[in-house]
Amino acid sequence: MLIENIGRLYTPLREGDKTTVKMVEGAVVYIQDGRIVFLGEKREFESYKVTKLQSSPPVSPPQSRGEEAWIPHQVRDDREEGRGEIDKETPLLFPPADSRGEARCCHVSSLDSTSVDRQGVSPTAVGTPDGTDRETPLMSPPTIVGGEVIDAKGMVALPGFVDAHTHPAFATTREDEFFLRNQGKSYQDIAAMGGGIHASVRKLRELPQDELTRRIRERYDRFLQHGTVMIEAKSGYGLNWESEKKSLQAIKDAAIDHPLTVVPTFLGAHEIPVEYKNNREGYIRQLTEEMIPLVAKEKLAEGCDVFCEQGVYTPEEAERILQVAKKYGLAVHIHADQLSDTGGAVLAAKLGARSAEHLDFISSDGIDAMIQAGVIFNLLPGAVFFLGLQKYPPAREIIDRGGRVALSTDFNPGSSMTQSLPMMMTLGAIHMGMSAEELLCAVTINAAQVLGREHEVGSLEVGKIGHVGLWDIPNLESLPYCYGMNMLDTLVVGGKVVRK
Ligand SMILES: [Zn+2]
Repeated sequence: MLIENIGRLYTPLREGDKTTVKMVEGAVVYIQDGRIVFLGEKREFESYKVTKLQSSPPVSPPQSRGEEAWIPHQVRDDREEGRGEIDKETPLLFPPADSRGEARCCHVSSLDSTSVDRQGVSPTAVGTPDGTDRETPLMSPPTIVGGEVIDAKGMVALPGFVDAHTHPAFATTREDEFFLRNQGKSYQDIAAMGGGIHASVRKLRELPQDELTRRIRERYDRFLQHGTVMIEAKSGYGLNWESEKKSLQAIKDAAIDHPLTVVPTFLGAHEIPVEYKNNREGYIRQLTEEMIPLVAKEKLAEGCDVFCEQGVYTPEEAERILQVAKKYGLAVHIHADQLSDTGGAVLAAKLGARSAEHLDFISSDGIDAMIQAGVIFNLLPGAVFFLGLQKYPPAREIIDRGGRVALSTDFNPGSSMTQSLPMMMTLGAIHMGMSAEELLCAVTINAAQVLGREHEVGSLEVGKIGHVGLWDIPNLESLPYCYGMNMLDTLVVGGKVVRK
């Protein structure tokens, strides 16, 4: 697939511990076998095609398998395209190692500078593949057949978004409760009326697995509609083995042959189930001695999460549960310091968690500990907004001190009924003082790192999976600026258009 005539392309780039956002005008992205094989200016693409043809002429076009091939074609003049005018001085956007000069970028901002060697982050090869000769005359540039060509019509291209914290495995929505809360009813009032998380647990336990799978799949569709190509999906409304297993299985089944990539997380420690109200120890033993070993054995989830909060799980209980999860090879995440500083962030650092979530009340020590340990700050401003709270997590301070911030929706029926990451970007801009570039990194490369997928997704680079969102806006700043509107025009997932 060729995506051409992109107005502005923005992507995070990682070099060691540094993350920058680069922008190019008039970009072209070429995706083959699901991966980006070329990314750069239009003029460079013409050279790339010529070089590619000269160095490795197509042997036998595998069109029978629906793949693309290069063939010689008539001369096309760049200048007639209105973009990519010949400018010998303009270097490549992402220059190969031996190229001259700096990349031409309108926005280059260093977004973090932590000294921690991030786990497994290695710079992905970017740029025009080796061998591109910029002096190659554009004598008979070939064109592409057999593959789709998308005219981006001057729109903005961004990496497909990653939502690293969602709770999609719920039975029903809770809009009645939303209104009760807004009219002044307390959480306790609502719980007494049969609402709250325990209502979700009751309904989920009753719902047959195939119906749950169907409902989750519809929710997956909606993530794509908002530009998200990968999510983390938690269980946590079952709170017993039968229903937690049903949830994790439904999360997996709903993702079969679905364009959305789903990374499941076991959240059996979302609450203490009502039947264990007077026997917390009994439920924690079930979690650590039965459920977590089974989740690992049956490969039902990649990660394990605990809701560490006053009135839910204490830091000591969370540590006990998550140490077992680690022992079984599950990645560690923690709902931490959402409503009060319980020391959850410090615990996340101690455990070497991939991420700690919420962090509205994180302490200064907690920030330091997480930065030192290389834990991602996965902030969820949607929950603050939707619950009508005032205190947003201190993203500005975290970033200024060198922390790496992701933003996720926390999609769930109780405290954040949204699947829109652009809306989270708006909240991050208004309430957390984040720049447009920081917001982009927060919903792409940093979120991908929460899921251990930063080598595959989260940026537009040669070698990565071809996930590209085309947004009907003139620049990156316009995405958080246009709040409550869906500006997505086209979503390309692994080189295929899934939403138009
Ligand atoms: Zn959550």
